[in-house]
Amino acid sequence: MSVRWGLIGASTIARQFMINAIRAQEGGEISAVMSSSPERAKTYAAEHNIPFAVSTLDDLLGADIDAVYISTTNELHLEQALAAIKAGKHVLCEKPLALTSTDARTIVAAAKAAGVVLGTNHHLRNAGAHRALRDAISAGRIGKPIAARVFHAVYLPENLQGWRITKPEAGGGVVLDITVHDADTLRFVLGDDPIEISAFTQSAGMAGSGLEDGAMCIWRFRSGVIAQSHEGFTTKFADTGFEVHGSEGSLIAKNVMTQKPVGSVLLRTAKGEEELSFDREDLYVRSLRQFHAAISGKGQPSATGEDGVWSLASAEAALQSEKSGKAVAIDPKLGSVK
Ligand code: NDP
Repeated sequence: MSVRWGLIGASTIARQFMINAIRAQEGGEISAVMSSSPERAKTYAAEHNIPFAVSTLDDLLGADIDAVYISTTNELHLEQALAAIKAGKHVLCEKPLALTSTDARTIVAAAKAAGVVLGTNHHLRNAGAHRALRDAISAGRIGKPIAARVFHAVYLPENLQGWRITKPEAGGGVVLDITVHDADTLRFVLGDDPIEISAFTQSAGMAGSGLEDGAMCIWRFRSGVIAQSHEGFTTKFADTGFEVHGSEGSLIAKNVMTQKPVGSVLLRTAKGEEELSFDREDLYVRSLRQFHAAISGKGQPSATGEDGVWSLASAEAALQSEKSGKAVAIDPKLGSVK
Protein backbone atom coordinates (compact mmCIF):
# COMPACT_ATOMS: atom_id res chain seq x y z
CA MET A 1 0.00 0.00 0.00
CA SER A 2 1.38 3.41 -0.83
CA VAL A 3 0.73 6.34 1.49
CA ARG A 4 1.62 9.78 0.15
CA TRP A 5 2.31 12.25 2.91
CA GLY A 6 2.17 16.01 3.06
CA LEU A 7 4.21 17.67 5.79
CA ILE A 8 2.51 20.63 7.43
CA GLY A 9 5.41 22.50 9.00
CA ALA A 10 9.08 22.71 8.00
CA SER A 11 10.06 21.66 11.49
CA THR A 12 13.02 20.26 13.39
CA ILE A 13 11.15 17.12 14.49
CA ALA A 14 10.26 16.26 10.90
CA ARG A 15 13.86 16.81 9.84
CA GLN A 16 15.35 14.82 12.71
CA PHE A 17 12.95 11.88 12.88
CA MET A 18 9.75 11.88 10.88
CA ILE A 19 10.97 12.17 7.30
CA ASN A 20 13.10 9.09 7.89
CA ALA A 21 10.24 7.30 9.68
CA ILE A 22 7.85 7.86 6.76
CA ARG A 23 10.41 6.76 4.19
CA ALA A 24 11.24 3.67 6.25
CA GLN A 25 7.72 2.32 5.55
CA GLU A 26 6.99 0.22 2.53
CA GLY A 27 5.00 2.57 0.30
CA GLY A 28 5.71 5.60 2.50
CA GLU A 29 6.36 8.66 0.35
CA ILE A 30 6.63 12.36 1.10
CA SER A 31 4.96 14.26 -1.70
CA ALA A 32 4.86 17.82 -0.39
CA VAL A 33 5.94 20.15 2.39
CA MET A 34 4.26 23.33 3.55
CA SER A 35 5.96 26.20 5.33
CA SER A 36 4.44 29.61 5.97
CA SER A 37 7.49 30.99 4.15
CA PRO A 38 7.78 30.09 0.44
CA GLU A 39 11.57 30.38 0.71
CA ARG A 40 11.81 28.05 3.69
CA ALA A 41 9.46 25.58 1.99
CA LYS A 42 11.69 25.53 -1.09
CA THR A 43 14.92 25.14 0.85
CA TYR A 44 13.44 22.44 3.09
CA ALA A 45 12.05 20.54 0.08
CA ALA A 46 15.41 20.69 -1.69
CA GLU A 47 17.32 19.58 1.42
CA HIS A 48 15.05 16.59 1.92
CA ASN A 49 14.32 15.67 -1.65
CA ILE A 50 10.60 16.45 -1.39
CA PRO A 51 9.05 17.04 -4.84
CA PHE A 52 6.53 19.78 -4.01
CA ALA A 53 7.02 22.90 -1.84
CA VAL A 54 4.01 25.05 -0.93
CA SER A 55 3.23 27.90 1.41
CA THR A 56 -0.53 27.63 1.85
CA LEU A 57 -2.67 24.96 3.42
CA ASP A 58 -5.01 24.94 0.42
CA ASP A 59 -2.12 24.13 -1.91
CA LEU A 60 -0.90 21.37 0.36
CA LEU A 61 -4.34 19.83 0.76
CA GLY A 62 -4.94 20.13 -2.99
CA ALA A 63 -1.80 18.08 -3.70
CA ASP A 64 -1.88 14.37 -4.41
CA ILE A 65 -1.63 13.19 -0.80
CA ASP A 66 -3.37 10.68 1.46
CA ALA A 67 -2.19 11.83 4.87
CA VAL A 68 -0.67 14.82 6.63
CA TYR A 69 1.84 15.07 9.44
CA ILE A 70 1.33 18.29 11.42
CA SER A 71 4.39 19.60 13.26
CA THR A 72 3.87 23.34 13.30
CA THR A 73 3.81 25.34 16.52
CA ASN A 74 0.98 24.28 18.81
CA GLU A 75 -1.52 27.11 18.20
CA LEU A 76 -1.80 26.07 14.53
CA HIS A 77 -2.63 22.39 15.03
CA LEU A 78 -6.41 22.88 15.47
CA GLU A 79 -7.07 24.82 12.28
CA GLN A 80 -4.68 22.70 10.21
CA ALA A 81 -6.02 19.39 11.51
CA LEU A 82 -9.64 20.41 10.90
CA ALA A 83 -8.85 21.56 7.36
CA ALA A 84 -6.99 18.34 6.57
CA ILE A 85 -9.81 16.22 7.97
CA LYS A 86 -12.32 18.23 5.91
CA ALA A 87 -10.21 17.45 2.84
CA GLY A 88 -10.46 13.73 3.69
CA LYS A 89 -6.82 13.27 4.71
CA HIS A 90 -5.61 11.04 7.51
CA VAL A 91 -3.91 13.10 10.21
CA LEU A 92 -0.92 12.37 12.39
CA CYS A 93 -0.66 15.43 14.61
CA GLU A 94 2.03 16.47 17.02
CA LYS A 95 1.29 16.91 20.68
CA PRO A 96 -0.41 18.84 22.13
CA LEU A 97 -3.26 18.27 19.67
CA ALA A 98 -4.43 21.84 20.32
CA LEU A 99 -4.19 24.51 23.02
CA THR A 100 -7.25 23.27 24.94
CA SER A 101 -8.77 19.85 25.46
CA THR A 102 -12.07 21.22 24.16
CA ASP A 103 -10.41 22.00 20.84
CA ALA A 104 -8.69 18.61 20.87
CA ARG A 105 -12.09 16.95 21.31
CA THR A 106 -13.35 18.94 18.31
CA ILE A 107 -10.55 17.41 16.21
CA VAL A 108 -11.35 13.90 17.45
CA ALA A 109 -15.05 14.33 16.67
CA ALA A 110 -14.31 15.72 13.19
CA ALA A 111 -11.99 12.81 12.33
CA LYS A 112 -14.55 10.31 13.50
CA ALA A 113 -17.31 11.95 11.47
CA ALA A 114 -15.09 12.03 8.36
CA GLY A 115 -13.90 8.44 8.82
CA VAL A 116 -10.21 9.33 8.66
CA VAL A 117 -7.44 8.04 10.91
CA LEU A 118 -6.25 10.47 13.58
CA GLY A 119 -3.13 9.88 15.67
CA THR A 120 -1.21 11.88 18.27
CA ASN A 121 2.55 11.62 17.96
CA HIS A 122 3.28 10.53 21.53
CA HIS A 123 6.48 8.72 20.59
CA LEU A 124 7.27 7.20 23.99
CA ARG A 125 4.55 4.55 23.68
CA ASN A 126 6.64 3.15 20.87
CA ALA A 127 9.78 2.75 22.97
CA GLY A 128 10.75 -0.86 23.68
CA ALA A 129 11.58 0.22 27.25
CA HIS A 130 8.08 1.52 27.95
CA ARG A 131 6.47 -1.50 26.34
CA ALA A 132 8.65 -3.74 28.56
CA LEU A 133 7.45 -1.79 31.61
CA ARG A 134 3.82 -2.10 30.58
CA ASP A 135 4.14 -5.82 29.80
CA ALA A 136 5.86 -6.56 33.13
CA ILE A 137 3.12 -4.74 35.03
CA SER A 138 0.26 -6.36 33.18
CA ALA A 139 1.89 -9.78 33.68
CA GLY A 140 1.80 -9.12 37.44
CA ARG A 141 5.58 -9.14 37.87
CA ILE A 142 5.51 -6.33 40.48
CA GLY A 143 2.24 -7.44 42.06
CA LYS A 144 -0.17 -4.59 42.63
CA PRO A 145 1.22 -1.25 41.40
CA ILE A 146 1.43 1.31 44.19
CA ALA A 147 3.34 4.33 42.93
CA ALA A 148 5.24 5.70 39.92
CA ARG A 149 7.99 8.30 39.54
CA VAL A 150 8.85 10.02 36.28
CA PHE A 151 12.11 11.92 35.81
CA HIS A 152 11.77 14.00 32.67
CA ALA A 153 13.67 17.19 33.39
CA VAL A 154 16.17 17.86 30.61
CA TYR A 155 18.10 20.74 29.08
CA LEU A 156 16.31 22.26 26.10
CA PRO A 157 18.88 22.26 23.28
CA GLU A 158 19.90 25.69 22.06
CA ASN A 159 18.39 25.17 18.60
CA LEU A 160 14.97 24.65 20.25
CA GLN A 161 15.18 27.68 22.55
CA GLY A 162 12.62 29.63 20.50
CA TRP A 163 8.81 29.68 20.75
CA ARG A 164 8.79 27.08 23.57
CA ILE A 165 10.29 29.62 25.97
CA THR A 166 9.09 32.93 24.52
CA LYS A 167 5.60 32.55 23.09
CA PRO A 168 2.63 31.74 25.32
CA GLU A 169 0.36 32.32 22.29
CA ALA A 170 2.14 29.49 20.42
CA GLY A 171 1.51 27.07 23.29
CA GLY A 172 4.99 27.38 24.79
CA GLY A 173 6.01 26.20 28.25
CA VAL A 174 7.23 22.92 29.63
CA VAL A 175 3.79 21.64 30.64
CA LEU A 176 2.38 21.62 27.10
CA ASP A 177 5.73 20.37 25.83
CA ILE A 178 6.73 17.60 28.26
CA THR A 179 4.00 17.05 30.87
CA VAL A 180 1.71 15.92 28.03
CA HIS A 181 4.22 13.15 27.22
CA ASP A 182 4.43 12.12 30.87
CA ALA A 183 0.64 11.96 31.09
CA ASP A 184 0.50 9.73 28.05
CA THR A 185 3.38 7.50 29.13
CA LEU A 186 1.98 7.04 32.64
CA ARG A 187 -1.39 6.08 31.16
CA PHE A 188 0.26 3.68 28.73
CA VAL A 189 2.65 2.00 31.18
CA LEU A 190 0.16 1.73 34.05
CA GLY A 191 -2.83 0.89 31.86
CA ASP A 192 -4.71 3.37 34.03
CA ASP A 193 -6.12 6.88 33.77
CA PRO A 194 -5.26 9.89 35.93
CA ILE A 195 -8.17 11.47 37.78
CA GLU A 196 -6.49 14.26 39.73
CA ILE A 197 -3.32 16.33 39.59
CA SER A 198 -1.55 18.87 41.72
CA ALA A 199 1.29 20.91 40.22
CA PHE A 200 3.91 23.50 41.06
CA THR A 201 5.62 25.21 38.16
CA GLN A 202 8.57 27.59 38.05
CA SER A 203 10.47 29.89 35.77
CA ALA A 204 14.05 28.92 36.55
CA GLY A 205 15.82 31.35 34.24
CA MET A 206 15.26 30.16 30.69
CA ALA A 207 11.60 30.85 29.82
CA GLY A 208 10.21 34.37 29.68
CA SER A 209 6.81 36.00 29.03
CA GLY A 210 5.25 34.28 32.04
CA LEU A 211 5.99 30.79 30.69
CA GLU A 212 7.14 27.97 32.95
CA ASP A 213 10.33 26.01 32.30
CA GLY A 214 10.01 23.56 35.17
CA ALA A 215 7.14 21.61 36.71
CA MET A 216 6.57 19.04 39.41
CA CYS A 217 3.27 17.21 39.41
CA ILE A 218 1.58 14.77 41.75
CA TRP A 219 -0.95 12.48 40.12
CA ARG A 220 -3.72 10.22 41.40
CA PHE A 221 -4.90 7.37 39.17
CA ARG A 222 -8.26 5.63 39.06
CA SER A 223 -6.84 2.44 40.62
CA GLY A 224 -5.42 4.38 43.57
CA VAL A 225 -1.84 4.49 42.23
CA ILE A 226 -0.13 7.81 42.96
CA ALA A 227 2.67 9.24 40.83
CA GLN A 228 5.08 12.12 40.71
CA SER A 229 6.61 13.67 37.62
CA HIS A 230 9.30 16.28 37.07
CA GLU A 231 9.51 18.12 33.77
CA GLY A 232 12.10 20.76 32.98
CA PHE A 233 14.04 22.63 30.32
CA THR A 234 16.88 23.89 32.51
CA THR A 235 18.53 20.91 34.19
CA LYS A 236 21.77 20.28 32.33
CA PHE A 237 23.01 17.35 34.38
CA ALA A 238 19.93 15.35 35.38
CA ASP A 239 19.22 11.75 34.32
CA THR A 240 15.84 10.73 32.97
CA GLY A 241 13.93 7.72 34.22
CA PHE A 242 10.65 6.01 34.96
CA GLU A 243 9.94 3.87 38.03
CA VAL A 244 6.93 1.85 39.06
CA HIS A 245 6.82 0.34 42.52
CA GLY A 246 4.45 -2.48 43.38
CA SER A 247 3.57 -4.82 46.24
CA GLU A 248 5.89 -7.56 44.93
CA GLY A 249 8.56 -5.68 43.06
CA SER A 250 9.90 -2.51 41.50
CA LEU A 251 10.65 -1.56 37.91
CA ILE A 252 13.44 0.94 37.51
CA ALA A 253 14.02 2.29 34.01
CA LYS A 254 16.91 4.64 33.34
CA ASN A 255 17.54 7.03 30.46
CA VAL A 256 14.20 6.19 28.84
CA MET A 257 12.46 9.59 28.58
CA THR A 258 14.09 10.27 25.26
CA GLN A 259 13.55 10.17 21.53
CA LYS A 260 16.13 7.42 21.04
CA PRO A 261 15.68 3.65 21.57
CA VAL A 262 18.12 3.55 24.48
CA GLY A 263 18.13 3.02 28.25
CA SER A 264 17.64 0.10 30.60
CA VAL A 265 14.83 -1.54 32.57
CA LEU A 266 15.55 -3.35 35.83
CA LEU A 267 13.07 -5.58 37.66
CA ARG A 268 13.78 -5.99 41.39
CA THR A 269 11.80 -8.54 43.43
CA ALA A 270 12.38 -10.91 46.35
CA LYS A 271 14.16 -13.19 43.85
CA GLY A 272 16.78 -10.54 43.04
CA GLU A 273 17.42 -8.27 40.09
CA GLU A 274 16.79 -8.91 36.42
CA GLU A 275 17.60 -6.63 33.47
CA LEU A 276 14.64 -6.83 31.11
CA SER A 277 15.48 -6.99 27.43
CA PHE A 278 13.49 -5.01 24.90
CA ASP A 279 13.61 -4.10 21.24
CA ARG A 280 15.64 -1.10 20.12
CA GLU A 281 13.58 -0.10 17.12
CA ASP A 282 13.41 3.60 16.23
CA LEU A 283 10.36 4.96 18.09
CA TYR A 284 9.09 7.07 15.22
CA VAL A 285 9.48 4.30 12.64
CA ARG A 286 7.29 2.09 14.82
CA SER A 287 4.75 4.90 15.26
CA LEU A 288 4.52 5.33 11.49
CA ARG A 289 4.16 1.59 10.93
CA GLN A 290 1.15 1.50 13.23
CA PHE A 291 -0.31 4.55 11.56
CA HIS A 292 0.02 2.99 8.11
CA ALA A 293 -1.57 -0.21 9.43
CA ALA A 294 -4.47 1.81 10.85
CA ILE A 295 -5.00 3.44 7.44
CA SER A 296 -5.34 -0.01 5.92
CA GLY A 297 -7.90 -0.96 8.58
CA LYS A 298 -5.58 -2.87 10.93
CA GLY A 299 -5.64 -1.61 14.49
CA GLN A 300 -5.17 1.93 15.67
CA PRO A 301 -2.35 4.46 15.75
CA SER A 302 -0.11 3.82 18.76
CA ALA A 303 -1.54 6.96 20.37
CA THR A 304 -5.01 7.88 19.15
CA GLY A 305 -6.77 11.24 19.09
CA GLU A 306 -8.50 10.27 22.35
CA ASP A 307 -5.08 9.68 23.91
CA GLY A 308 -4.14 13.18 22.78
CA VAL A 309 -7.26 14.55 24.50
CA TRP A 310 -6.31 12.79 27.73
CA SER A 311 -2.74 14.10 27.75
CA LEU A 312 -3.85 17.65 26.99
CA ALA A 313 -6.63 17.53 29.61
CA SER A 314 -4.00 16.43 32.12
CA ALA A 315 -1.62 19.25 31.17
CA GLU A 316 -4.47 21.75 31.33
CA ALA A 317 -5.36 20.51 34.82
CA ALA A 318 -1.70 20.87 35.88
CA LEU A 319 -1.66 24.51 34.75
CA GLN A 320 -4.96 25.17 36.54
CA SER A 321 -3.55 23.61 39.68
CA GLU A 322 -0.50 25.88 39.60
CA LYS A 323 -2.81 28.91 39.29
CA SER A 324 -5.32 27.89 41.94
CA GLY A 325 -2.93 26.27 44.40
CA LYS A 326 -5.33 23.32 44.57
CA ALA A 327 -5.51 19.80 43.24
CA VAL A 328 -7.58 19.68 40.04
CA ALA A 329 -9.75 16.83 38.80
CA ILE A 330 -9.03 15.45 35.35
CA ASP A 331 -12.41 14.67 33.85
CA PRO A 332 -12.50 10.90 33.41
CA LYS A 333 -15.30 11.23 30.87
CA LEU A 334 -12.71 12.54 28.45
CA GLY A 335 -11.55 8.98 28.07
CA SER A 336 -14.79 8.00 26.47
CA VAL A 337 -14.76 10.63 23.72
CA LYS A 338 -16.26 8.72 20.84
P1 NDP B 1 10.35 23.95 15.22
O1 NDP B 1 10.53 25.25 15.93
O2 NDP B 1 11.54 23.32 14.61
O3 NDP B 1 9.25 24.10 14.07
C1 NDP B 1 8.00 24.68 14.32
C2 NDP B 1 7.70 25.73 13.26
O4 NDP B 1 8.63 26.79 13.42
C3 NDP B 1 7.89 25.21 11.85
O5 NDP B 1 6.67 24.69 11.38
C4 NDP B 1 8.36 26.43 11.09
O6 NDP B 1 7.28 27.13 10.52
C5 NDP B 1 8.96 27.33 12.14
N1 NDP B 1 10.41 27.35 11.95
C6 NDP B 1 11.27 26.31 12.00
N2 NDP B 1 12.52 26.71 11.74
C7 NDP B 1 12.44 28.04 11.51
C8 NDP B 1 13.38 29.02 11.16
N3 NDP B 1 14.67 28.73 11.00
N4 NDP B 1 12.95 30.28 11.01
C9 NDP B 1 11.65 30.58 11.17
N5 NDP B 1 10.71 29.68 11.47
C10 NDP B 1 11.10 28.44 11.64
O7 NDP B 1 9.60 23.00 16.26
P2 NDP B 1 9.76 21.49 16.64
O8 NDP B 1 10.06 20.64 15.48
O9 NDP B 1 10.63 21.37 17.79
O10 NDP B 1 8.25 21.19 17.14
C11 NDP B 1 7.16 21.21 16.25
C12 NDP B 1 5.98 20.46 16.85
O11 NDP B 1 6.38 19.13 17.13
C13 NDP B 1 5.45 21.01 18.17
O12 NDP B 1 4.06 20.81 18.21
C14 NDP B 1 6.11 20.16 19.23
O13 NDP B 1 5.33 20.06 20.41
C15 NDP B 1 6.20 18.82 18.52
N6 NDP B 1 7.33 17.98 18.91
C16 NDP B 1 7.11 16.66 19.19
C17 NDP B 1 8.11 15.82 19.50
C18 NDP B 1 7.83 14.37 19.70
O14 NDP B 1 8.77 13.60 19.91
N7 NDP B 1 6.61 13.91 19.63
C19 NDP B 1 9.50 16.30 19.60
C20 NDP B 1 9.65 17.68 19.23
C21 NDP B 1 8.59 18.47 18.90
P3 NDP B 1 6.92 26.92 8.97
O15 NDP B 1 6.44 25.52 8.88
O16 NDP B 1 5.89 27.95 8.73
O17 NDP B 1 8.20 27.12 8.22
